[in-house]
Amino acid sequence: MSETDALRALMEADRWIDRVGSQRSHLPEMAELSTIEVELRSLLKALQEAQAAQAPVRTAYEDAQSEAARLAKRAGDLERTLSASTANARELTALQNELDHVRELLGRSEDRELELLLAVEPLDEVVSSIKAQAQPAVARRTELQGVIAELQATLDEELVSLRRARRERAAALSPELLARYDAALVRVGTSGAAQVDAGRCDGCRIALSPLDVDRWKSQMAGTFMPCPECGRLLLP
Ligand SMILES: [Zn+2]
Repeated sequence: MSETDALRALMEADRWIDRVGSQRSHLPEMAELSTIEVELRSLLKALQEAQAAQAPVRTAYEDAQSEAARLAKRAGDLERTLSASTANARELTALQNELDHVRELLGRSEDRELELLLAVEPLDEVVSSIKAQAQPAVARRTELQGVIAELQATLDEELVSLRRARRERAAALSPELLARYDAALVRVGTSGAAQVDAGRCDGCRIALSPLDVDRWKSQMAGTFMPCPECGRLLLP
């Protein structure tokens, strides 16, 4: 294999590794996942706000509920005492007065309970509708995370074998040429060599000046002049 062919083979190996690496970090599923995560963050914020609005009303409703239950029990106790009582008229009047008072409190408490129930229902509704809205997004997120992990594992395996092949190709180059190639690769990424296509370096896509095109065409075999723009070794 000529030095030029070996250099081209290494360039192709590196370009292939670069494509797979960029495929790995730009999976369409990742874009969808990040859209879903944005949506879920905004739903979470809405949920927290809805719960903050709901909590005090729900607490007040539950308090009113237990207060009404307490008063109803008290009224029941008084009614039983009254009907079974053998006390004198004065005591009976006092019991009756207390019962009237408890019943009045109970009436007010029940009104308050109903009022709070009417206030808490729409707030509960908002909370459950946000949860229902988030449910399919949460499921899709889990699904996408699984798909992404699987695809990345496959691409990682592919990268391992591509890097192994790359090492073999690199070993075919002279140490001097490999050092020049690697220096360019480290500096600009993707590959350390490029081809000239229609007067442009296909690494950086910048057109060579006519003078550089002439230099490139007349370069001695094994020279590999660097692209004046990106420094990649230009293949003849
Ligand atoms: Zn270039």
